[in-house]
Amino acid sequence: MSFNSLGLSSAILKAVNKQGYTTPSPIQQKAIPLILEGKDILASAQTGTGKTAGFTLPMLQKLSEGQKLRHRPIRALVLTPTRELAAQVYNNVKAYSEFLDIRSAVIFGGVNQKPQVATIRNGIDILIATPGRLLDLQNQNLVSLSKIEIFVLDEADRMLDMGFLRDIKKIINLIPKRRQNLLFSATFSKEIKKLANDFLYHPVLVETTPENSTADAIEQKVYRVAKSLKTGLIIKLISEGNWKQVLVFTRTKHGANRLCKKMVASGISSAAIHGNKSQGARTKALSGFKNNTIRVLVATDIAARGLDIPLLPHVVNFELPNIPEDYVHRIGRTGRAGASGEAVSLVSAEETSYLKAIQKLIGFKIPVEIIEGFEPDPNASTEPIKQGQRSNRRPQNSNKPKKNKSSDHSGNNRNKKRNRNNKNR
Ligand code: AMP
Repeated sequence: MSFNSLGLSSAILKAVNKQGYTTPSPIQQKAIPLILEGKDILASAQTGTGKTAGFTLPMLQKLSEGQKLRHRPIRALVLTPTRELAAQVYNNVKAYSEFLDIRSAVIFGGVNQKPQVATIRNGIDILIATPGRLLDLQNQNLVSLSKIEIFVLDEADRMLDMGFLRDIKKIINLIPKRRQNLLFSATFSKEIKKLANDFLYHPVLVETTPENSTADAIEQKVYRVAKSLKTGLIIKLISEGNWKQVLVFTRTKHGANRLCKKMVASGISSAAIHGNKSQGARTKALSGFKNNTIRVLVATDIAARGLDIPLLPHVVNFELPNIPEDYVHRIGRTGRAGASGEAVSLVSAEETSYLKAIQKLIGFKIPVEIIEGFEPDPNASTEPIKQGQRSNRRPQNSNKPKKNKSSDHSGNNRNKKRNRNNKNR
């Protein structure tokens, strides 16, 4: 199948061509015609599947065909959980709309609102936003959502996971009832299904990979290892394997910093990204990683949300996540767009129950290896790390935010309980 057969205008095809895309990805093949028909969609798609173009291309087509009003009210709204993802979606929208008379803007927290407000005032067709900053500006009457025709919820599972459910509901109440809704999520929990039920209108389910499955192109491996030997093992794997671009996940911010320092000390260029890093530091780390001046990016789950790192060859779980779905998200960063990738997990005795839960979710046993000199500790307890000993989120409360104390885009301050659970991530 080619892009030409999807019903997109020549100006959009020209931009797609400029990006070097030749064939629409599976999600694009399925979603684009449905969106052009005006259907609501509920799409299961991970980052790396081409989902952004999957909703942006038909959205641009519809907006450019529609009637343009002189004052350019915002006609499409894309909500994303993080500023990084918002910036990425915005860059994609800009690239795909290069040959169209369509204007867009991105707004997120953590930076001065003035330039964002000025761009909106000049008139835009598409707004990409994180929920907190959008509600801030709306409360100040600086943005009007009364003419939204297309509403996109990107990475909906992340949104709920980060405590944005209330904000999403508030935003939905601010936009017109008659509109087209597009919901994208990598995993489908009960909460996502409920949200979809509440606000989508006869949605068409678009699935490209089975629910909660991990992509076939990803080779997965578990190294059983003593906790105290993990750092040595990861340094060995990276150095001896000559791995060039490695994304490493740790469970805590401190763990990310510690590991990053040890990597640097052993001559492997590394940077850490997590919630305590400023926006500038995160952007710098990410761009260094993308242009290969930084070999290893050590990240916590929240910081890594939605990062667009194309064709990532190696993902390492330095520690397994205690939420099994996070494993699917983490390793979804490799083997992208048909390229093969490797996801390895360093698993110590106390992570045994996490491994079991992950294998149950993905439906198969991950092959296990033990490296000589880095054996597991036979005397270590297989008891999981207790709540409070380490940062752990409680999945059962993850979508029940209490009082919003701050409009921090990341949602980390959304409620005390989440704060306690999230504070180390
Ligand atoms: P996304 O899943 O939207 O984050 O996209 C992942 C990556 O795939 C991005 O770097 C896109 O530029 C790229 N991409 C999107 N669509 C295509 C396509 N049809 N062919 C090749 N690459 C694509």
